[in-house]
Amino acid sequence: MPDGEPPVTPDHPPQAAPAPAAILHGLQGRDCPVCGTSERGAAPFLSASIDPARIGTLSFASRKPPEYMSFRLVRCRTCETVFAAEAPSAEALAQAYRDAGYDSAEEARYAARTYAEALAPRLSPEHRRGTALEIGAGSGVFLQELLDLGVTEVVGIEPSHEAVAAAPAALRPHLRIGVFEPGQHRPGSLSLVCCFQTLEHVPDPRALTRAAFDLLQPGGLIAFVTHDYQAPLNRMLGRRSPIIDIEHMQLFCPASLRRLLGDAGFGEIGIAAIRNRYPLRYWLRLLPLPGPIKPASLAAAEALGLGQRSLGLNVGNLLSVARKPG
Ligand SMILES: [Zn+2]
Repeated sequence: MPDGEPPVTPDHPPQAAPAPAAILHGLQGRDCPVCGTSERGAAPFLSASIDPARIGTLSFASRKPPEYMSFRLVRCRTCETVFAAEAPSAEALAQAYRDAGYDSAEEARYAARTYAEALAPRLSPEHRRGTALEIGAGSGVFLQELLDLGVTEVVGIEPSHEAVAAAPAALRPHLRIGVFEPGQHRPGSLSLVCCFQTLEHVPDPRALTRAAFDLLQPGGLIAFVTHDYQAPLNRMLGRRSPIIDIEHMQLFCPASLRRLLGDAGFGEIGIAAIRNRYPLRYWLRLLPLPGPIKPASLAAAEALGLGQRSLGLNVGNLLSVARKPG
């Protein structure tokens, strides 16, 4: 956290920490979460790599030092989605995110600015006059970007108490703690649904996308930011890519995103790589550097005053925007 910012005080009583590895009990077999093809028809992608002793409260936080752990990942031969063949139940995941730590205030602000600049050209006056919903809103920094873009009403859903506690006071009324429950919104009432760096984490991305379609008014937009497992950097890094993460239930590529959005009824699907702009210290933290080189690089960057200098890179993230017909 930058100097001069007040420490965040959570506004909920501390809870007993759950057994760290509780998430690993009762894993359930899954079929492709995008097209429904049986797991038996999927190709091996990456074997499981889980160290129960290393699962902590940050394992399910949005941004953290990479741990390179994963469930057994397979690749759907029909739609190209990579997915965890065995995964925690929806309830276990909701619990893990409820208790997740939150340490990403500065990075979240940079990410929100990147996404707002990329999305702005697609927003018509009708979209701005309506209500936007963000699924996985963290501390609400992107909601603020939407308000700054002239969106009339914004609503954010976020499971982590700590993330919501970190929200600026003015944004708190727009945030609801919990997971996305379509029944809490009126069908046809939204002009925009955003789900950024969250779609990999949800137990059922197909249900989420279909529900978003129903909640949008005709002409409304859906916007996803996801990793692209087929991007050159992620292919090169393999298991040492930050996208290999125990909290990722699925990984997407342009083909699987097109399938997900098209099957839900969306049209005018646009999928493009985005350049993420982050401080140098964030990029260094993500790099798969061996042993003491990483802390040494970070210390050197800070000593030279470069740690907060921002740098825009294409690291294999995709912005997908699609429109509900009508
Ligand atoms: Zn599939």
